[in-house]
Amino acid sequence: MSEHYDVVVVGAGPAGYAAAIRSAQLGLSTACVDAAVGKDGASVLGGTCLNWGCIPSKALLDASHKFAEAKDHFGEIGVQVEGVTVDVAKMMARKDQVVKGLTGGISALFKGNGVTSLAGKAQLRSGKRVAVQGHDGTASVLSADAVILAAGSVPMNIPPAPLTPERIVDSTGALEFQEVPERLGVIGAGVIGLELGSVWCRLGSEVVILEALADFLPMADRRIAKDALRVLKGQGLDIRMGAKVTGAAADDDGVTVSFEANGAERQLRVDKLIVAVGRRPNTEGLLGEGTGVGFDRSGFIEVDDHCATASVGVYAVGDCVRGPMLAHKGAEEGVMAAARIAGFKPAVNYDAVPNVIYTHPEIAWVGQTEEDAAASGLEVKTGAFPFAASGRALAANDAVGVVKVVADAQSDRLLGMHVLGPQASELVAQGVIALEFDASAEDLGLTMFAHPTLSESVHEAAQGVGGRAIHMVNRSSRRQA
Ligand code: NAD
Repeated sequence: MSEHYDVVVVGAGPAGYAAAIRSAQLGLSTACVDAAVGKDGASVLGGTCLNWGCIPSKALLDASHKFAEAKDHFGEIGVQVEGVTVDVAKMMARKDQVVKGLTGGISALFKGNGVTSLAGKAQLRSGKRVAVQGHDGTASVLSADAVILAAGSVPMNIPPAPLTPERIVDSTGALEFQEVPERLGVIGAGVIGLELGSVWCRLGSEVVILEALADFLPMADRRIAKDALRVLKGQGLDIRMGAKVTGAAADDDGVTVSFEANGAERQLRVDKLIVAVGRRPNTEGLLGEGTGVGFDRSGFIEVDDHCATASVGVYAVGDCVRGPMLAHKGAEEGVMAAARIAGFKPAVNYDAVPNVIYTHPEIAWVGQTEEDAAASGLEVKTGAFPFAASGRALAANDAVGVVKVVADAQSDRLLGMHVLGPQASELVAQGVIALEFDASAEDLGLTMFAHPTLSESVHEAAQGVGGRAIHMVNRSSRRQA
């Protein structure tokens, strides 16, 4: 069987499904092929984000946060509750329900927009053909005027900690525990390690996170990272920096983890071990002979600033190309690729990609850190406002953290915004919009914010850049490169 489409998209995660829907909206005949199958063996849309990543982890993060609040903090606000317990099976079932609803939603969007959805493993062939090995046993080759590769990423494994069915798991396995492990080890204090470590710590596990690097969250602003480490340790997460895992052996009762720290070989005994050491592009078997599409030195599909590969008409977007592995970055790239195929000329602004770590308090940022900006030769001014001085945060009994704004000392142009605090994931959007519109810190400071809101902390931090914050004693800092 051979069918022709204007656009064939490989992958139905956030990058691929957004690309397919926008292609169809632009009047292009579109097919989207995805190989993923769910727990019941049926094919599923939505990729890692919806099925094994962002969405199920947020369902567990929100549920476990509510449990921790009820157990440990309701008393502080005069709400007495006793005998708060966790029903892990119910929590997991609800998480699965949320996932099912959303993945079903993608299916409905495909139908509504006229995207042909194909379940199977795709391979790009020369001449913009895509071979599809269907889950139903059929084999077909589609031809297309344009192809968008959105194959995503898979968890990385490390030889010292090979996965086992029960004890040593990756981020996918860590979303499926059926009971709270008494002692939980996590390799990697990155985004996944901190999020999943938080879930199980709140539900009662003794969690030890082993991180090879000496610096906590090296990509984040130093002040935010330092504060975050202190706060998370205070919640009971035993985060050990400079601890490189060298081995892990599972037996019937648990896992013995070996690691090096301060030049000494140490061991740790846990019931389960989560390996969260990064993800790699999912490109195995994706490219056939003679496609003209190449890889960069890190194994990602090589693309230009507009996600075009070296082969005319073939684009690649999302986790399988350079840049942060973030659903929203992939989705914007997918939409851009579709629009470019249709003859428009949009671009993604890679200087305004928000990052969020969904701990509590959340950690979020956009743009440059103070250190990055100074290192690039800019003279930097900063303003910061602590949630401890925010009326709304205090009223909500949720006043840990700070908003920090970084601006160019010469032009006052906003360079970055960094937040540790309640709803940081939402607050950072204000920094994204300000960066998109090339705002100055003064622009943000002159904008009216509703009172009382957490957003006022953004306002005050921006005012603080010019030494004009109202609700704190100003200490605007100036930094010369
Ligand atoms: P990561 O790169 O953020 O962190 C992995 C950590 O593991 C690193 O700090 C690394 O130094 C450490 N490590 C590696 N080998 C080690 C060893 N032998 N011993 C001890 N430590 C070791 O990777 P991740 O947390 O697995 O996340 C993968 C990707 O998924 C990231 O790109 C992330 O952005 C994305 N993601 C994003 C979100 C979000 O946006 N909230 C959530 C989950 C995942």
